[in-house]
Amino acid sequence: MENCIFCKIIKGEIPSTKVYEDDEILAFKDIQPAAPIHILVIPKKHIPSLVQLEKEDEILVGKIYTVINKIAEEQGVLNKGYRVIVNCGKDGGQEVGHLHFHLLAGKSLGEKIV
Ligand code: 5GP
Ligand code: ZN
Repeated sequence: MENCIFCKIIKGEIPSTKVYEDDEILAFKDIQPAAPIHILVIPKKHIPSLVQLEKEDEILVGKIYTVINKIAEEQGVLNKGYRVIVNCGKDGGQEVGHLHFHLLAGKSLGEKIV
């Protein structure tokens, strides 16, 4: 998708620090980390937000969670704990219109909303 920051990262047009990549999923460090470990896990398919998820994306989303666990293990936090956040839409605080999963870890993430 043209003018999508994350599609540009996927294409290598914008540099990023990649931590995982396969043919469907990319993970890279967030440019403004909110925790010692802050990684964004995204589908390579341009899905604007959770709202646009289609039936055919259900397996892909499952794979994303498996990748998140794999990264958590590599980062040494699988058993310490971590948080996964998906912001959706305006009230959800979503700023980039390409579905992404925030993986946050490396400290006690105390400020819970739910
Ligand atoms: P959102 O607020 O949409 O849920 O999260 C977007 C995230 O993308 C933010 O945490 C922001 O720091 C990150 N971000 C925005 N632009 C870039 C970029 O060019 N590179 C990287 N690595 N992260 C970005
Ligand atoms: Zn995109």
